[in-house]
Amino acid sequence: MDRDRLAEHLRFAAELGVDGVSRDPAWRARAGELAVPDAQGAPDRLLIPEPSPDEPPVNRPGGSTEALAAVRRDIGECARCKLHRLGRRQIVFGVGSAEAELMFVGEAPGHDEDVQGIPFVGRAGQLLTKIIEAIGLTRDEVYIANVIKCRPPDNRNPEQDEVETCEPFLFQQIEIIKPAVIVALGTFAARTLLHTLDPISRLRGRVYDYRGAKLIPTFHPAYLLRNPASKRDVWEDMKLVRDLLKFQV
Ligand code: URA
Repeated sequence: MDRDRLAEHLRFAAELGVDGVSRDPAWRARAGELAVPDAQGAPDRLLIPEPSPDEPPVNRPGGSTEALAAVRRDIGECARCKLHRLGRRQIVFGVGSAEAELMFVGEAPGHDEDVQGIPFVGRAGQLLTKIIEAIGLTRDEVYIANVIKCRPPDNRNPEQDEVETCEPFLFQQIEIIKPAVIVALGTFAARTLLHTLDPISRLRGRVYDYRGAKLIPTFHPAYLLRNPASKRDVWEDMKLVRDLLKFQV
């Protein structure tokens, strides 16, 4: 990281309420990776278990990438719901590592995402990138997707029929990636995934079991842009995420 980016990263961490950094190498160990101490006791290499020949392809190295590509092919130039004729430019499928331990789920693409075909690339996305980096990860190491793959007109909330049509693709993404932790970004994602009408302010601060993962709801980065005081709460949630990833083996 160059000096400017490091300075920006530290400024943001301070803004989030980060009160220190750890030099403990175990802090950066990823779930599913076994850190093996060398002669001096420092973890210096990772043991990744060999796949069994009987494992389904999705469980083999690279298998999840191919499985995700198959879901994307299945979606095709989707016309399953009305959003395809309401001005969406393209489908915004998802981005990141197919083997990510941590997955972020947002609501639906906005204007910038619709133009670029990548989730969370606008102002809210830039803030999400900083949040990810604040727990020592990069966008490439996590997976980012939305409940809805097409931009609703004028950024209106997705409607029930659109959610029902599109969410099976998100469930397939979760099934393939098998993240240890899912962060639901904002009221819409949290309510949809948890099947509740509770607002995010009631839902956050707790860990939920969800499709084999731990789910943590937090405020949407777009909400944080309007309410910067809530960054502190998001930092509390992200510390929980970091701890869950750390103890996940
Ligand atoms: N907001 C979302 O919920 N998703 C995006 O991809 C961008 C903004």
